[in-house]
Amino acid sequence: MFPFENILDFGVELSDEVELFRKTIRQFAENDIGPRTQEMEKTNRIPDELFDRARELGLFGIGIPPEYDGQGGGPLMLTVMMEELSRVSPAFATAVAVSGLFTVPVMLFGDEGQKRKYLPPVARGERFAAHANTEPIAGSDVAGIQSTAKRDGDHWIVNAQKIFITGADKADYFVVSARTSSSQNRKERWKGLSFFIVEKDWPGVRIGQKFEVIGLRGEQPNEVILEDVKVPEENLLGREGDGFKIAVTTYDYGRVGIAGQAVGIAQAAFEKAFNYAIQRRAFERPIISFEAVSFKLADILMKLEAARLMTYWAATLQEKGRDEAVVAASLAKTFATEVAEWASAASIKIHGGVGLDREVGVEGLLRDSLVTTIYEGTNDIQRITIIRQLMRKLFGSAVGMI
Ligand SMILES: Cc1cc2nc3c(=O)[nH]c(=O)nc-3n(C[C@H](O)[C@H](O)[C@H](O)COP(=O)(O)OP(=O)(O)OC[C@H]3O[C@@H](n4cnc5c(N)ncnc54)[C@H](O)[C@@H]3O)c2cc1C
Repeated sequence: MFPFENILDFGVELSDEVELFRKTIRQFAENDIGPRTQEMEKTNRIPDELFDRARELGLFGIGIPPEYDGQGGGPLMLTVMMEELSRVSPAFATAVAVSGLFTVPVMLFGDEGQKRKYLPPVARGERFAAHANTEPIAGSDVAGIQSTAKRDGDHWIVNAQKIFITGADKADYFVVSARTSSSQNRKERWKGLSFFIVEKDWPGVRIGQKFEVIGLRGEQPNEVILEDVKVPEENLLGREGDGFKIAVTTYDYGRVGIAGQAVGIAQAAFEKAFNYAIQRRAFERPIISFEAVSFKLADILMKLEAARLMTYWAATLQEKGRDEAVVAASLAKTFATEVAEWASAASIKIHGGVGLDREVGVEGLLRDSLVTTIYEGTNDIQRITIIRQLMRKLFGSAVGMI
């Protein structure tokens, strides 16, 4: 069972409440989002009405406790939300969930004043929020961050260039990482980082270029630039030097949501391929009667259900607050995103030429799936995380690992 305790650790624990929530999201996704997906592809913009409806349904408050105006719920509900939204529009799922990369670190590391000020407007969907960590020089290598924050009386002066920041164009609040001290010792680079809560309207905060990335049409990331931004001391998140821990903990928490997103993509790929294979005829027969097609469909379903089980298993461990959730979430994120990529490509092939037509909406799944293999930690980094966690469990530290 290593690194898990026993067979009971492999349970998936869902409830009627989660199933009811899933049905609500599915209805919203099919009735409201589905008819707008082509428009989102073409305009590269999500219609405001969809955000209004998500707000009415309380989706921005999932995972935030009611005392901060949230809807409560935990990793299982967030995973269900990501799966069901992504089955119809992975871009919209990302647009809704990205505020979690702000609210999670505030919930886990913020003081009461920060929580009272920043969580309720985001939970109510009145304010948008984003997470600004990646830089031109540092993505996977979080400890390599070069943005700086220098203390100046009761303020910090922050200078930062952040790239690929999802939701930045709409965000009112950001968590921003910056170096508050530097070390000459290569092994201690991670020590001098801190996170700050920054508001969009403060002087020196600027949204830079939009990145036209391959997938997630409608929710494309932007550059965020901070030039001599005066950040009050009370907006330091956690303690000075906690930045690396905040980043890693936030991604550990959010990763299972990306696995859920990948399951939604794979589900869409399967359903589209299955329906097409039944109605498309070739050589005077439905193409599903050819083994080359039907075996591929069986393989998609096999891998999809394995990915779903792994994802809800990881979410269950996370819901229970188990340490093993870190390794489970990395296993699930890596497996599910790679299944989504493979299943989308297989679905395109089952569709033949039609699968490559943008209007049909299958090739978009492949583009979106590629993003899931990269953001919130590439799958290479997940594999490193998995082995590090095993080494820690066995030896108490990740000896010999980077
Ligand atoms: C659509 C999109 C949205 C994003 N949204 C956000 C956001 O909201 N906020 C934010 O801060 N960031 C965001 N990102 C950035 C994202 O998290 C990074 O792109 C990702 O972490 C990878 O970093 P990188 O691009 O710098 O790649 P690099 O770190 O340069 O990696 C390049 C390649 O090298 C591999 N590699 C690197 N180090 C190792 C290693 N030690 N061992 C093995 N392989 C390694 C990687 O796996 C990858 O294949 C987003 C990115 C995209 C594409």
